[in-house]
Amino acid sequence: MSSGWERHYVVVVCPKCRVHSQIVDDRGQKSVRCQNCGTNLRFRKLRQFHNSTDLEEAILIRTKLQASLVGKGDSRIISTIEFDKSKIKEKKGKKPIPNKPQEIVLSKIPAGESISFTELMSLVKTMGLDEEKFEDTLHKLLESGEVYEPKNGIFRRA
Ligand SMILES: [Zn+2]
Repeated sequence: MSSGWERHYVVVVCPKCRVHSQIVDDRGQKSVRCQNCGTNLRFRKLRQFHNSTDLEEAILIRTKLQASLVGKGDSRIISTIEFDKSKIKEKKGKKPIPNKPQEIVLSKIPAGESISFTELMSLVKTMGLDEEKFEDTLHKLLESGEVYEPKNGIFRRA
């Protein structure tokens, strides 16, 4: 890992429930979820009680802050870092991945081309369809006319 990106740990307090502080691993995300009340908070609008590249320092500040929020030194509070990777990924609108068996099989047959049974099977296997399910699905597609078999063991999309 030799990126020049320096990680920043930001300590924030949820303005909604006002009893929960958390450390956010700042990766440019727009929102963070309060781990106490579940509110989605606009990260850029939150007051930053602390901002540093030193995680241990952030944990220390956060522990003190949390103690003052709950009114006592609560040692049970676990420092947590919010990673918001999942949301960032979701936003990069990729093509939806086919998940129905019929969609998977159809997606693996190139338009206007023929494909052999074994080739098709090895392709759909990588998508998580086992042999039995594949045969079953192919059978249905042949029945519905979406796929036909111009030669024995060779398939095409209709
Ligand atoms: Zn909250």
